[in-house]
Amino acid sequence: MIHGSLAPVESVNWQSLLAGSITDPQVLLSRLDLDPGLLGPARAASASFTLRVPEPYLSRMRRGDPTDPLLRQVLPVGDELLAQPGFVLDPLGEQQTNARPGIIHKYHGRLLLVVSGGCAVNCRYCFRRHFPYEDNNLSTAQWRQALDYIREDDSIAEVIYSGGDPLAASDKRLAWLTREIADIRHVRRLRVHTRLPVVIPQRVTAELIDALCGTRLPVTMVLHCNHANELDGTLGDAIQTLRRAGVILLNQAVLLKDVNDSIEAQVALSEALGDNGVLPYYLHVLDHVQGAQHFHVDDEIAKRLCGEMLARLPGFLVPRLVREIAGASSKTPLPATLTDQ
Ligand SMILES: *Cc1c(COP(=O)(O)O)cnc(C)c1O
Ligand code: SF4
Repeated sequence: MIHGSLAPVESVNWQSLLAGSITDPQVLLSRLDLDPGLLGPARAASASFTLRVPEPYLSRMRRGDPTDPLLRQVLPVGDELLAQPGFVLDPLGEQQTNARPGIIHKYHGRLLLVVSGGCAVNCRYCFRRHFPYEDNNLSTAQWRQALDYIREDDSIAEVIYSGGDPLAASDKRLAWLTREIADIRHVRRLRVHTRLPVVIPQRVTAELIDALCGTRLPVTMVLHCNHANELDGTLGDAIQTLRRAGVILLNQAVLLKDVNDSIEAQVALSEALGDNGVLPYYLHVLDHVQGAQHFHVDDEIAKRLCGEMLARLPGFLVPRLVREIAGASSKTPLPATLTDQ
């Protein structure tokens, strides 16, 4: 009766949900009635990158189904331990562009602020699974230096809260940071890239809205939702709260083998986003990070999938297929292969 002893998730605050995340593979497997044979590999693979799944995300997985698309994103598997040529520790060369602690400045006019090193969920495909976040847990003095960096470069029109997951930070920290950034005159926009509301919709509180939307800066939030099953009613409510506060909602997904690499899965995701007033922004091909090779989808298949999406969906519900290439001046678009009539 594990479920019976829990209060309804809506009444539990996000901090407890975050702190109470499942980190033991055995608990995950037994909660979902999965084959105990999966435990050995899960333990081995989680030694270097731990398992982390919050309850509200778990509640959207099917019991007894090892192929569940949400489970696949979080379950450590033996394939992660196989080395494969071309799959490296820092595929984006971010450790070089990390010029000042907490800042990743690669593109013109915008930069990433690593607001929090932590995440609410550990996604097995994560391109930052080997990123040294400890070096990016900033002291107040370092925060001041990061803000000075933005202040001294008037080409920076947009600050992007990133991580880890920026919404793992407290509302107090976010409110302070947002006020400081709004005081820098040449900054025109704030953007937040986050997966936290997807896995813990309860993160979207009145305090969060105040922290992010309490200044002159227009706010865009880019959710990281990979599958239509992630968009349940609780997340829908959180999205409506954000929209009512004037936040522009976009989504970016990663194309993942056996998670969302079918036309059905992509159409369902776009339609579900559209139902919620969220526009698909990017569909990323996988970064070749060591340990994620089992999620790889061939470029040709990705391009054909986008062509099929164009044939099936209104243009504004088709995400741009992109790749991140170290040293490029933006994301690199991959052209869709159009389907024949
Ligand atoms: C993706 C990314 C951005 C934002 O790029 P957009 O194309 O504006 O969404 C900014 N900085 C870094 C380092 C990025 O990886
Ligand atoms: S939430 Fe984002 S940064 Fe965190 S583990 Fe998942 S993909 Fe990586």
